Amino acid sequence: MEILASYNLQELRVKFQELGFEPYRANQVLGWVYRKFKDNFQEMTDIPKEQRTLLSQAFRVHTLKPVERIETKDSVKYIFRTEDGSIIETVLIFERDHLTLCLSSQVGCAVGCKFCATAKDGLFRNLTTAEIVDQYLWVQKDAPSRIRNVVFMGMGEPLANYEAVRKAVEIMVNPWGIGLSKRRVSISTSGLISQLKRMAQDPLLRELNLAVSVNAPYQYLRELLMPISKTNNLKELMQTLADHPYPPDRRIMLEYVLIKDINDSEAHARAFAQLIVPYRNKFKVNLIPYNPDPSIAFERPSMERVYAFQEVLRSHHISTFIRLSKGVDVFGACGQLRSKRLELVVK
Ligand code: SAH
Ligand code: SF4
Repeated sequence: MEILASYNLQELRVKFQELGFEPYRANQVLGWVYRKFKDNFQEMTDIPKEQRTLLSQAFRVHTLKPVERIETKDSVKYIFRTEDGSIIETVLIFERDHLTLCLSSQVGCAVGCKFCATAKDGLFRNLTTAEIVDQYLWVQKDAPSRIRNVVFMGMGEPLANYEAVRKAVEIMVNPWGIGLSKRRVSISTSGLISQLKRMAQDPLLRELNLAVSVNAPYQYLRELLMPISKTNNLKELMQTLADHPYPPDRRIMLEYVLIKDINDSEAHARAFAQLIVPYRNKFKVNLIPYNPDPSIAFERPSMERVYAFQEVLRSHHISTFIRLSKGVDVFGACGQLRSKRLELVVK
């Protein structure tokens, strides 16, 4: 049986023709699934009855199985099981006036950042397009209103799973699919330069919001925290980002996780400012106070240090925000997801 969200509109129209259906039925079915959130073909009342039965024999809407739902004041964390038994996490965040969905793109992550819980067990595998889209479908079914923003900030490095993420985005931003605004979908990356260049050439992905995890102002320190910097040099990364084809009013978000006594001093802030100043109008900065994890020896700095760091950047006229407003754990929880695969197998 095939999973519907593996296909974009064009592919599904071809598939439907092979089944002997009129191609426009594909548009109708996608409307039911992505804009009315139906997962039962029998409820798709503008499709002839015998076609509905054939559809339910040929396709299913979901591939993930919801396993757990953990609600806090500002967020809901969903745990899903894939068909091959992997566990992935998705977070719905209640922002002041809208909902943001934080998606995973891989089971685990190969990038190996020293501060990140997702990195601990390495990469298990890429998620498929259907698994990425299905996170949205399940959460939207459960959410109190329409999800407005989607961020690829959960488990995994989205640009290391380029094709599957691209197709998921295609489904998310097209009017035949979910129909989200391109400006409300964000990709957060550890800064894979070749993939960023590919993204810059890609008419679909280059218009999304781009967030890049910088986390250190010096090459040596970034290599220590993020080993991929050895092959993705910091200065070259900044130049690649400055060359990203954004209109003049759009800015790339530089993310900086502040870790106590590692990268949080005013000297670090000044060095970070120096890195940004030549291209000041192209960037804004998000400071993320480190969210501690029991298995990692790093700590969160005091808020005093966080504000001092922000002040240095602001004194260089760099727009700088602190990502804390929603209660300390919300975005932290998003950037800190970890596969519980092994634990569940043991249970
Ligand atoms: N792989 C992508 C997206 C997922 S990580 C990336 O690295 O950008 C999303 C964000 O969470 C990154 O900015 C990362 O630096 C941050 N992050 C990871 N672990 C964290 C932690 N323990 N506390 C705070 N932020 C963390
Ligand atoms: Fe992977 Fe991002 Fe975690 Fe680094 S911070 S290990 S790139 S998920």
